[in-house]
Amino acid sequence: MVSITAYGGVNEVGGNQILVQDGKNRIFLDFGMSFGKFFTYFDAFLAPRKLNGMGDYFELGLIPPIAGIYRNDYLKHMGRPQEPLSCDGLFISHAHGDHIGMLHFLREDLTIHGTPETLKIMESLEETSVAGLTEYVNLKRTFEFYQNKKGGLSRLEGEKAKVPRKIEAVDKPVEIGQMKIRASPVNHSIPGATAYIIETPSGTLAYSGDLRFHGYGGHLTEKFVKEAAGVDTLIIEGTRMEHSSSMTEEELTAKVKTEIEATKGIVLANWPIRDVERLISFLKAAKSAGRYLAINPKQANLLEKLGEANSKIPKPTDPAIKIFVTRKSWGLIDRKLPDLNLVNEDYKEWERKYLHASNMVDYNELRDNPSAYVVRADFFDMTELTDIRPNETSCYIRSVCEPFDEKMEFNEAIVNSWLDHFHVGRRPPTIHCSGHAPGQDIKRIVEEINPKTIIPVHTEKAAKFNEFGKKCILPVVGSIIQL
Ligand SMILES: [Zn+2]
Ligand SMILES: [Zn+2]
Repeated sequence: MVSITAYGGVNEVGGNQILVQDGKNRIFLDFGMSFGKFFTYFDAFLAPRKLNGMGDYFELGLIPPIAGIYRNDYLKHMGRPQEPLSCDGLFISHAHGDHIGMLHFLREDLTIHGTPETLKIMESLEETSVAGLTEYVNLKRTFEFYQNKKGGLSRLEGEKAKVPRKIEAVDKPVEIGQMKIRASPVNHSIPGATAYIIETPSGTLAYSGDLRFHGYGGHLTEKFVKEAAGVDTLIIEGTRMEHSSSMTEEELTAKVKTEIEATKGIVLANWPIRDVERLISFLKAAKSAGRYLAINPKQANLLEKLGEANSKIPKPTDPAIKIFVTRKSWGLIDRKLPDLNLVNEDYKEWERKYLHASNMVDYNELRDNPSAYVVRADFFDMTELTDIRPNETSCYIRSVCEPFDEKMEFNEAIVNSWLDHFHVGRRPPTIHCSGHAPGQDIKRIVEEINPKTIIPVHTEKAAKFNEFGKKCILPVVGSIIQL
């Protein structure tokens, strides 16, 4: 008997945590962070306490109360007994925080399955993040001590604390008990996204993850729809059920190119940091307008890691790409000091490679040759404008989703203040297309797959799925759906 229990992604966009159980065998589909729930209780200056292990997360229902899936170092610190492993694997659809954000808390012996691209993105996130729940690839044993040379106790830290997680690329079907799970890649706003098709003794099941047709990899989503045709149960996202259409990445590229060509000065552009398809759109537009695209070191690291899994990803050494390294710490990058180590100390180990790359540019170059560049600048880069000095001949292209809460509106107002301060003259309306299929595309997916039962997740419009004339089960957090 197969059952499904959704612990997250219910009546909300994201935070997917879906347990599939067949007899003794249990797997999770995604283990994400519910940003909605998280920011109900926390903000930038009020974070969950690390000292409480997972306690603050359990308290607020950010992770489910299930035995045998959580890391034992945190459990021990919380005064809870050690538990044997009770889950046979986590299958990740893609590396967005609302799908992998709570993975940090899982045990290191719980096998994590994902596409090679997803695993590379997790590596990059772990390497380049400053803080947060980023032990995606290596778990760092915490709250443990060891006997030091002086006979006292020291905290276990650094390399000594590192335990690699059990990770497997989903390049072939995985058998767990009587379940057979295979990945079926789809297109989304991050590389490596996949759906899963699961054969079980009680029927077949497909999980869409997040998907769309209107990106460069739309053919993958088409292929998934064909592969999943006729499954008994379809767990499907419905982020944009109330929207009817989307512009394609190709159309977006043309619009961006028009804006670049109409600009004399520097073009500042904000697109989601890990949306590589959007990066490709800006790269194409910049190239055809005869400019360089300046990305940041985090994006360069991401492209480099992804390149190890997928040769079609642009390389950070592409002749049209420059890496914009900002001043950090003491800001010594352009001081021409006799000892390079003094400059190196301003940067983290992983960043230094880009600091010394032949295609590195600093603010002097962007300020002195503004017409040669399209540079990515998001909310956190606004202070760099003081160095880059855009003016009325400059342009700011907004290529992210519209603000959907007060916090985002507030940040947007701050960005506008900076642009006003520098009299940035050209500010076209937002040029963006979503990572999610609009309602009419979801309808087509449901019609073509033609499942007996639909379970909508990752949506605030779950009831709209009732309109498709199929048996539709609206999940309830923590309640078991028998298939
Ligand atoms: Zn999502
Ligand atoms: Zn996503």
